[in-house]
Amino acid sequence: MFDFAAMRAEMVAEQLEKRGITETAVLQAMNTVPRELFIPESYQANAYNDGPLPIGSRQTISQPYVVALMIQLLDLQPGSIALEIGTGSGYAAAVLSLIAAQVITVERHHKLASSARERLSRLSYDNVIVMEGDGTQGCEEFAPYDGIVVAAGGPSVPIPLKEQLKLNGKLVIPIGDSKRKQQLYQITRQDSYQFTEKRKGRVSFVPLIGQAGWDTR
Ligand code: SAH
Repeated sequence: MFDFAAMRAEMVAEQLEKRGITETAVLQAMNTVPRELFIPESYQANAYNDGPLPIGSRQTISQPYVVALMIQLLDLQPGSIALEIGTGSGYAAAVLSLIAAQVITVERHHKLASSARERLSRLSYDNVIVMEGDGTQGCEEFAPYDGIVVAAGGPSVPIPLKEQLKLNGKLVIPIGDSKRKQQLYQITRQDSYQFTEKRKGRVSFVPLIGQAGWDTR
């Protein structure tokens, strides 16, 4: 059998620390969540590989480094409430749940939403709420958020996500004209109408599908 704890520690040291993930809370969370339990059994040997893996419904669990980078860019303080768009396997939501006080995560695929909900509850990630729907509209019910992270790439920044940020809250989102290649943006709400944007490098995510994303066809 595999020594997943050792594989996890090596991933944190080699893929995260060496590439500039410095936030202790992020490193600790990445060193705690059992990624092997969020992927199909046939891929378990590759659970800590430096890349994405298929999770069914033509979707992927993001590369560990990208999960850590996006969460670090949210700059969450203790007691915060975070929104994730694109639950997928639930892995990033589990990592977030060890840093934020409350995590809301939205998934548009029924099958993925229900299996992530079941998995997160079985593993006792009790401060995560999985919602099913179009995350380009955010989740008004629990807004505003200290941080919003989008795990799929859209053509432009969905307005509802900006509107659901707290003052000084951050939105981390891949944006690009192509469905598979994006720039990662970190957007900070300065006041009601003012936002600053920083580019954080090239990334490749599955498409963000919805009203303020790519169309459903
Ligand atoms: N964070 C996930 C990876 C998600 S992959 C993990 O850790 O496993 C991106 C996910 O975004 C896919 O599951 C896809 O179905 C979902 N998605 C795409 N567009 C969406 C939308 N508008 N609202 C909610 N989820 C969306």
